[in-house]
Amino acid sequence: MICDLHTHSAFSPDAKDTAQAMILKAIDMGIQYYAITDHCDCNFWEMPPSPDVRDADMYGSRYYAKASISRLDDMKKIYGGQLELICGIELAQPLQNLEAAQKIVSDKRLDMVIGSHHMNKGKDDFYWLELGKMSREQVERLLEDYFSEILDMCVWGEFDVLGHLTYPLRYIAERCEFEIDMSQYEEVIREIFKTLIRNDKGIEINTSGLRQPIGKTLPDIRYVKLFHDMGGSVITIGSDAHSCAEIGAGIEDGIKLAEEVGFEYLSYFRKRVPLMVTY
Ligand SMILES: [Zn+2]
Ligand SMILES: [Zn+2]
Repeated sequence: MICDLHTHSAFSPDAKDTAQAMILKAIDMGIQYYAITDHCDCNFWEMPPSPDVRDADMYGSRYYAKASISRLDDMKKIYGGQLELICGIELAQPLQNLEAAQKIVSDKRLDMVIGSHHMNKGKDDFYWLELGKMSREQVERLLEDYFSEILDMCVWGEFDVLGHLTYPLRYIAERCEFEIDMSQYEEVIREIFKTLIRNDKGIEINTSGLRQPIGKTLPDIRYVKLFHDMGGSVITIGSDAHSCAEIGAGIEDGIKLAEEVGFEYLSYFRKRVPLMVTY
């Protein structure tokens, strides 16, 4: 297997397996380019205001994000000869705490930064939203804010690849009776891609959706093709594994998809510089 560039170790509050166990599994599977990209939700930089707050365990990212980077930097010295180990981070909601985001992205040990958006400003993670109880209009409004906040994040642009674009669709597919007409977001999605391409940034094909009710990659083939056709050249593939067992899940399908829409190369990163690998 060529790569898996989006995985979480126990330095992510929602994952359990140690970085070392994850790396040994990746070596065992023969993965050539392997990244651990633990969470750093910038709006959860400090410790939680109270233990009862929603997502209390995700708070304190200033501690675990740095700990993850330090650990991976050490692991590279031990396992670097056995696979291309990439020291990454999944930086989420950077604009909701810009100072925190700047502190993380300026860390010279980082190879790769995934820019993600899990929650709109002032709202919970889409994972927590009671989408099944909302009207179509309410859900559409949330999506409108979602894409617009992503566009702002892309204009800021201090990351390497945009993580799992269309993340809310994962939960909409699971919980809503209706389907969303995505054509209303076409313009903002094109603007997102234009901004990324102008700054030589990429998108990822996140294969987590393949093992969830949505049954598609995030984003799906339509948007991966659009990104390619608009001139995008930086594309990564990641499973978003939160355990050893999920490493590499769906990667072969992701590679097929990239190939099908016309990408000749996949990307990985070394010290924030995109490098290309052929299939
Ligand atoms: Zn994510
Ligand atoms: Zn992730």
